[in-house]
Amino acid sequence: MNPEISFEFFPPKTEEGVLKLRETRKQLALLNPKFFSVTFGAGGSTRDRTMDAVLEIQAEGFEAAPHISGISSSKDEILSLLQTYQSHGIQRLVVLRGDLPSGEVSSGDFAYASQLVSFIRAHTGNGFQIEVAAYPETHPEARSAGADLKHFKTKVDAGANAAITQYFYNADAYFQFVDQCQKIGIDIPIVPGVMPIYNYTQLARFSNVCGAEIPRWLRLRLEDCGDDIASLRAFGLDVVTDLCEKLIAGGAPGLHFYTLNQSGIISNIAERLGLNK
Ligand code: FAD
Repeated sequence: MNPEISFEFFPPKTEEGVLKLRETRKQLALLNPKFFSVTFGAGGSTRDRTMDAVLEIQAEGFEAAPHISGISSSKDEILSLLQTYQSHGIQRLVVLRGDLPSGEVSSGDFAYASQLVSFIRAHTGNGFQIEVAAYPETHPEARSAGADLKHFKTKVDAGANAAITQYFYNADAYFQFVDQCQKIGIDIPIVPGVMPIYNYTQLARFSNVCGAEIPRWLRLRLEDCGDDIASLRAFGLDVVTDLCEKLIAGGAPGLHFYTLNQSGIISNIAERLGLNK
């Protein structure tokens, strides 16, 4: 049986972006995903665009899961957003703390994602399936791996149904993390987040910010590809397909792809994994 898959988009800024995302979705829909999620800009900066993308996905007959982040939001703002989503029949949320935009000082009413999860449960009961973030290689701000794991458990105990991980290229980091979670009684599905390799400069930039390690061997090989995008993508396709194969073989409950609103490489990965059948 194929693992459950889901796809993450960012809300497009332009009409051209909206059209491109529509086409991307059409291609990825062929893979029969469980849901499409749409990110939420820090401090609600993409609130309307996230909503527009989510409602369009839903109108096409797919399950749409908006991301919602607590940082720099007030309780009233979150309540109003939850009510709007409920009125549109949205049933799944990806709940995050978010990161403060540079220069922003007010952290709002939610310092951590666990507080937002508790707040959503307190006000909407079991009205939403709640997904949260997990970090097999440890969140970059965490005091230690142990402290991060403890905070992850608090977030799960607050009412998360499942987790999606930050991306990684070392399958062992994921399996070790899942193992540690099980040892402390975390029994929700932990779905690996998979970042296809589109562009080395961009990947290095993302990884610097979010703490996802690009192993030395991989970094050196990607650097060797230089401006030869075709070689980089062909090599990246091998690496990410191999990672997905290991994850599936090791029992990962699904795969969540960071699409960057593109379908080509993911369709290739899916074809190699036999997920397109
Ligand atoms: P938390 O779970 O709150 O953890 C953040 C840090 O605080 C960790 O270091 C944790 O150990 C620590 N911590 C938690 N609780 C406590 C406590 N009680 N005391 C002390 N320390 C504590 N960002 C966006 O802005 N928009 C998005 O749409 C978005 N989507 C994402 C989707 C996925 C699948 C992932 C993995 C990340 C996403 N992010 C998004 C990024 C995310 O917002 C950042 O990684 C952010 O820095 C942490 O969010 P979190 O929900 O994991 O926070």
